Amino acid sequence: MLRAGLLVGPLVGLVIGLWGCQQGSPKIVHRSELHMGTTVTITVVAREDEAKYALDMGFAEVAAMEAVFSSYRADSHLSKVNTAAGDEPVLVPESFIVLLKHALLVARQSGGAFNPLVGPAVKRWGIPEAPRVPSDAELNALHSLLDLAEVHINPIRGTVYLSRPGMALGLGGIAKGFTADRVVVRLKEHGINGGIVAVAGDVTTFGLRPDGTPWRIGVRNPQGGDAPLRQLALTDGAVSTSGDYERFFELDGVRYHHILDPRTLRPARVGLTAVSVLAPSGVLADGYATALFVMGPKAGLALAEHLEGIEALFVADTGAIISTSGWPDG
Ligand code: AMP
Ligand code: MG
Repeated sequence: MLRAGLLVGPLVGLVIGLWGCQQGSPKIVHRSELHMGTTVTITVVAREDEAKYALDMGFAEVAAMEAVFSSYRADSHLSKVNTAAGDEPVLVPESFIVLLKHALLVARQSGGAFNPLVGPAVKRWGIPEAPRVPSDAELNALHSLLDLAEVHINPIRGTVYLSRPGMALGLGGIAKGFTADRVVVRLKEHGINGGIVAVAGDVTTFGLRPDGTPWRIGVRNPQGGDAPLRQLALTDGAVSTSGDYERFFELDGVRYHHILDPRTLRPARVGLTAVSVLAPSGVLADGYATALFVMGPKAGLALAEHLEGIEALFVADTGAIISTSGWPDG
């Protein structure tokens, strides 16, 4: 009896040891890669063996979205739509139509402060790759290309048509948050119940940390430094920040940044340095952060208070901070 007992002991230990080694316990695993001209970080709660596959799938989705929305790639669907402006409708994937509808919604709600047709003007400013200050004549010639009524979506045929030659969509103000949302969907499909997808300053979270607590997301201090300006506890939600420090160049002491006021087609100057938006989805957080930056603290605050599920934090040039009444402080 005693001998049998001795024999069983190590065997059980070995079996338990192997089982433990294969299963492991879920932990936080993250990976960063360069995509869309920026750093994308995907964080998942998973066992080591599951995490690798999930992260591979997540980054494959980022690459797939980049192939649809990139304005730098001539073969993207976005570039094909722009090339065919004034000519013919272009067949696009469903994701294109879903994102474009969101962009038009944010454009409408913001009274045109957000306008995805600023694409040609964004190119003229060349931020960040070939920065220059376009002439008044150059910018004036682009005002006729901003009419959102000339963006035609045919959801039945799955086509998008820009009806004036020279028009061009640029979805850089909203595609990062949308991509983060899409990655979350992919991760959930692969059995992941909690994580964070951060495409630069556009962050979507889902589920909980392994210890059952919410994710803590820091809002960057535009004045710099490692300490976050604010900490947010998020489970299923999104936060985006738009700031004049993200992409800019300086000439003769003037800072020219990448968020344009569609009325002037020049960098929006409203006394703000950053706007952060909390929303139920990344696409809305991203779109409204850009929109509210253009609108400025007064009109932007009024719009954010009016929109259900949207909270906003404005950081003025002076360092002063204003937020909507529902912004979760602390
Ligand atoms: P974000 O970093 O999300 O605020 O987006 C900024 C990017 O959106 C810029 O780099 C441009 O590509 C694009 N953009 C600039 N101004 C506008 C605008 N008024 N409406 C929509 N997109 C814009
Ligand atoms: Mg944005």
